[in-house]
Amino acid sequence: TAPPPTVTLDSRFATELAEMAVPWRAEEAPDPRLLVLNEPLATELGLDPGWLRSADGVRLLIGTAVPTGAAPVAQAYAGHQFGGYVPRLGDGRALLLGELVDPDGRVRDLHLKGSGRTPFARGGDGLAAVGPMLREYVVSQAMHALGIPTTRSLAVVATGRTVHRETPLPGAVLARVAASHLRVGSFQYARATGDVDLLRRLADHAIARHHPGAAGAERPYLALFEAVVAAQASLVARWMLVGFVHGVMNTDNMTISGETIDYGPCAFLDAFDPATVYSSIDHGGRYAYGNQPAVAEWDLARLAEALLPLLHDDQEQAVALAVESLGGFRRRFDAAWSAGMRAKLGLRADLDQAVVSPLVEELLALLEASRVDFTSFFRVLAVAARGEADPTRRRFLDPGAVDDWLTRWRALGPDPDGMDRVNPVYIPRNHLVEEALAAATDGDVDPLMRLLDAVTAPYDERPGLERHAAAAPPDFGTYRTFCGT
Ligand code: AMP
Ligand code: MG
Ligand code: MG
Repeated sequence: TAPPPTVTLDSRFATELAEMAVPWRAEEAPDPRLLVLNEPLATELGLDPGWLRSADGVRLLIGTAVPTGAAPVAQAYAGHQFGGYVPRLGDGRALLLGELVDPDGRVRDLHLKGSGRTPFARGGDGLAAVGPMLREYVVSQAMHALGIPTTRSLAVVATGRTVHRETPLPGAVLARVAASHLRVGSFQYARATGDVDLLRRLADHAIARHHPGAAGAERPYLALFEAVVAAQASLVARWMLVGFVHGVMNTDNMTISGETIDYGPCAFLDAFDPATVYSSIDHGGRYAYGNQPAVAEWDLARLAEALLPLLHDDQEQAVALAVESLGGFRRRFDAAWSAGMRAKLGLRADLDQAVVSPLVEELLALLEASRVDFTSFFRVLAVAARGEADPTRRRFLDPGAVDDWLTRWRALGPDPDGMDRVNPVYIPRNHLVEEALAAATDGDVDPLMRLLDAVTAPYDERPGLERHAAAAPPDFGTYRTFCGT
């Protein structure tokens, strides 16, 4: 018999922002089976992994049994999708079960995805398939291990229900943990109601939860905006440094906390090419790898617009303040990107940026011209720093083309051990993710477990994982990913 659940779920969002919360319940699942549980995360949250594996625990993980006092809600939000404004999106297939306070006092959302239709479902079925939920599990685990702020995956439970996409697929629910699910789109929604008091309560809630320093500022709401600008500039720089392509940077998929959210059509670069797009619906390349900083800035401008009534009584002055703060994005992004590239190249932080910047630009052009695998390149480059340049040279169509660059770089005294600490060996490689998800969908979770093993310790090269360190095979072809699966 299972011990009684000692889980307490607060409902701060549901009570403080009731206008943006629709009380709702998760759909029953015919045959729930736990596919994967993140035990270290469970422990970190003060949840007993053994209990979570029990029938009662699994019912919590799919939301069909919640602790007394919990008040699950579907959250309302708006958003610009591919540049077009949609006033009412919201959790169409998701639920906020409530907030957990971990043993260190940190407040985190416990949230479900694939838990059934809600009043925001529009044409959708409210469901999710095993493959895409495991994909979010793997990629968010990899991001976390790479030190990149992200929502976390606690568990994936197969529901026993069939989900109809292009083919019938097994259904699943993902249990997700996040600093919060407040998005730029949450502010757009509050602003569009015309209720400035609601907008202010949302901003106060966000300040208390994510950017408490803003509360004491001369202009707290401008300080909130600046804190989000800073968090997103740092986040997107980190994506760029590992070759992560989010794929659907709509304003409803940009958090106020600065965590990466919504692992739908995302993927990591194989060959370096700024124009890389994986999403099957991104025909214009709006969310291409190289466009991500500009798009983040565009999304933040939408946040600024939503916040205008709080920034100044005089709206012209409010605009001026917002424009000035938004200007900080580029500066912060450039600084984070440059510092990160210096580290990837093993170069000292005190080197003149005027020396480093052209070296970085030139290298990226060389990588692009030869379609060099982005991730493994930096590991092989550390070998060059140790004195053996040939493995690096062989990555280029014309090995001689990189000699001049290598000479100038080596003259700066790169530190190969430092490089190996920041350049991952293992990322969730597209061909291996597809292979693991297909096997898991057919009931074999072994390839998924091996992939998780690799990506959760990304910097330590280990025997038996050679395939996971290698570039995609040439016959893998063009990779395509999908939204809302
Ligand atoms: P996304 O592209 O994942 O950011 O989702 C955009 C919007 O579509 C959100 O409001 C989702 O809740 C909603 N949505 C996505 N898939 C489904 C689905 N299968 N059923 C209902 N709503 C969905
Ligand atoms: Mg989304
Ligand atoms: Mg999604």
